[in-house]
This record gives sequence, structure tokens and C-alpha cells, in this order.
Amino acid sequence: MRLLIAMMKHETNTFSPVPTPLARFGHGPGPLYGDAALKAYRGTGSGLGAYIELAEREGAEIVMPIAAGAPPSRRVDNDAYEHIAGKICDVVRAGGFDGIMLDLHGAMVTEAYEDGEGELLRRIRAIDAKTPIAVSLDMHTNLYDAMIDNATVVAGYRTYPHIDTYDTAKRAGEILLKAIRGEVKPVMAWGNVPMLPHVMRQGSDDFPNKQLQERCAAMSKDGALSATLFVGFPHADIHNAGLSVVVVTDGDKSLAEKLRDELLDRAWGDREAFVYKLEALNESLARAKSIEPPKSGEGPIVLLDHYDNCASGGMDTTAVLAAILREGLDNAAAFAIFDPEAVQQAIAVGVGAEVTMSIGGKMAMPQIPGESRPLTITGTVKTISGGWFRNKGPSSRGVQMDMGPSVVIDTGKVEIAVISRHVEPNDLNCFYTLGIDPMQKRYLMLKSRIHWRAGLGSLAKAVVECAGHGVCTSDYSQLTFNNVRRPIYPLDLPSR
Ligand SMILES: [Zn+2]
Repeated sequence: MRLLIAMMKHETNTFSPVPTPLARFGHGPGPLYGDAALKAYRGTGSGLGAYIELAEREGAEIVMPIAAGAPPSRRVDNDAYEHIAGKICDVVRAGGFDGIMLDLHGAMVTEAYEDGEGELLRRIRAIDAKTPIAVSLDMHTNLYDAMIDNATVVAGYRTYPHIDTYDTAKRAGEILLKAIRGEVKPVMAWGNVPMLPHVMRQGSDDFPNKQLQERCAAMSKDGALSATLFVGFPHADIHNAGLSVVVVTDGDKSLAEKLRDELLDRAWGDREAFVYKLEALNESLARAKSIEPPKSGEGPIVLLDHYDNCASGGMDTTAVLAAILREGLDNAAAFAIFDPEAVQQAIAVGVGAEVTMSIGGKMAMPQIPGESRPLTITGTVKTISGGWFRNKGPSSRGVQMDMGPSVVIDTGKVEIAVISRHVEPNDLNCFYTLGIDPMQKRYLMLKSRIHWRAGLGSLAKAVVECAGHGVCTSDYSQLTFNNVRRPIYPLDLPSR
């Protein structure tokens, strides 16, 4: 057996000011290719890790042209997209495969295409009309016809934070192998409802997504080979942004449609629970100050700077950190401000030196009103790091991460991590590698919405959501949608 395995992943925030060139793909200067890609992902708890394991179990020859994944940011540069899609299509053209296993995102928007994944699959099918294709997708997929029409089986994550990337690819890959052996004939039904669930309300530990995802899993008892409910990625001004469903069955299209409709009806019925209510920043901080300090064995009080998480692309805004410093919160750590220039400034003075410098507020954000200001801090350079670490898990265990050159500035009250590549704090090792022990902190400021829960959710004593300033406003009111299909809830459809 001969299998093509490849990864092309990007969650595109069309409101983000952060560019997406080829160099952003990969944990270093660009994607990995061939044996280097195989070596980097073999044995990891990632989608590629699962595909590689399945292929090796089958004794298959693996061809892996490229593994390209980038943190969220604005539309992917055309050059970058053509390079990645081109590498995959080149090996498809050479031919001789029994199956194709793709680890894609589902919310990739390029300069030229609003459905980057559908375009890739359309190109593959134009070259090779027959070879079965398995696609594993993120829960934030904004689904299009082309993704379903040009694939054999499509399956998506059931957890947010995403701790089942491995399981999802394994599910898709196993169905593909059965299809190759002629044991099943997968058929798919997909659909969507006009709603944009808010990211802060999408967690799979909370109602209603918890119950919806549990129902997806239980559908295997009703005859589904795979059932997926995508909450969608709302910070994308594209036609099909929002919630969708795909169900795969063994040759029974009407069953797939029935199960799809059940999931869509339930999600639509729960739409009000997907709306997020904001609290003013000063109220949030007052609440944080009133919480008893953690006792021995208790974890930190987490302050979520959720406006400006990695998925907003920036990690550049300073409103929440400035308020933490102004209010005098003590024994705190903040992860992180993205500012490569400030990092170099701190490196130049060296560990142990005192430094006064300006951090963040460097990125113009034309798509949202208001101004993001730099923040001047004074502190001691506590840590200088290359910024590499491997995820401890449960999210993408063993996968190498790269924050770029990174420093910690200790103001005496707050340890501030400043990094040079975007990494969301979803793994304990991003702190440990910088010499910060989050369990010893009273407060931990995180630029994250839901993903931080993967590594820290069970450890936090309390969580306070802090509305700062950023590309992704929580109530959509600051964003201008021109391309998403209308009407859509909650932008213009009333509740019930
Ligand atoms: Zn996602």
C-alpha cells in the first residue's frame, strides 16, 4: 500500500493585521518536507502522528511532501498557498497512491480563495478523480461544498480546547483504510445554519457544545461512521462562516441526512447559549482582586486577555496588562506580549540588568476602532530563552513549538513574557521553558480564550475574563462583515 500524507493548516482571521507568508508555516523558518516532516511528527499526539501510525501499522509506503501549519493571522499570501498546495499536487500528479490522508484546518482563507481547503481538494480531484481521500479538520472549520464534494471522508475535532487532533485523524484514517479495502462505502451529508457561535462560548466542557459533541460521538451507535459538528470560526468575513455539520455513513445517504438535520436543529435551538456577554475591564479586575489568594496546592487566578489571543493574530495589545500594573496586582505572570524588537533590547542588556522599555502596541489594526498603545515597563531581565519547547500535552503532545527568542521581564510584581513568534499559552511547558512556575503565582494573565484550558484549565483556582483591546471583539459590534451570508444570528436575526 502507498499513502500520501500531508498537512496544510491555518485558521484565518480576516480581521487580523498579522501577515501570513510562507515563513509563518512551521516551527522555524517555514514548513517541513519529506523525511524531516515524518521525523518531526512520528510518535506525536497530532493528526499527522495518527496518520503516520496507521500507515506504518498497514506496512504502507509513506510519501509526505509537506507539513505546513501556521498560527492564526490574516489571509494567507497567495505565494505561500501556491507553494503548499503545489507540493501536494505535484506528488498526486506523479500518482500511484492507494489513499490520501490530509490534516487540514477548514478555516483557511487565502488572498485569492475564501475556501483554501476546498480549492486544494478540487485541484487534487482534477488530477486524480479516484484515489480515496481522508480529511481531518479543526472544530473551527467554516465548511463549503468543495470540501465535501472532493473528499471521501471528512471528520472534525470534538474538543475545544483541541485535545483530540490525534483521535480525529485516526477516525478519518481508519474509515479511509476500510474504504480502500472495500469494507465500507462512505457517503456524506453536510449542512449549516445561519449562526456565528461566539468563540468564548464554544468550549466543549460547557453547555451547549458539550452536549452537542456528546451526541456526535453517540451517533456511532445509530450507524454513523463519523459525525462532526463544527462550531465555525466567526472572525472570518467569508460567505460560509459559522456552524455546520457533516455526517458520514456506510452507503446510507438518507441516514446521514437525518443525523445531520438532528444536529443542526439542536444547535439552532441552543443559539442563544452561544452568545457571549461582556463585562467591563475595571469590573473584572475588581472581581479578581476580591478573590482569596490561592492556598497551598491551589493554582493561580487566571485573567484571560481574550480579546487579543493568538487567534486574533496579535498578542500585541497592552490594555489588560496595563490595568494589572496600574492596579498593583502582585505575584503575577503574563503570557505573552509579541514584540521581537523589545526582546532584542532585553537580550542586549542581558540577564540581571534593569531595563526600561516600551512593549506592544506596535501593530496598526485598521479593522477595529480605537487605539492600541505601547506600554512602558521597568524591570529586571529574568530569563533569556531560545523559545523552543515540546508540548507536554494533552494538546499536540510531543510537537515542537517555537516562540522565537523570548525574555521574561520581572517588574517586581509581574513577570512579563515577551516573545518573537506567536504561541498561545495552552501548554505548561511554555511557562516552564521561561522559568515561570504558574502554580506559584497568584495571578496568571493569558492571551487566550479557550485553548489555555488544555494545559491549565484543571489547575486554575478561578477564571476572570478581561475585555481588553483587540482584533476580535467579543460581541462582533466593532467588526464590519461584508461577505458573510445574511441574515445571520446574532448579527441580524432576533433570538427566538
Ligand atoms: Zn480551532
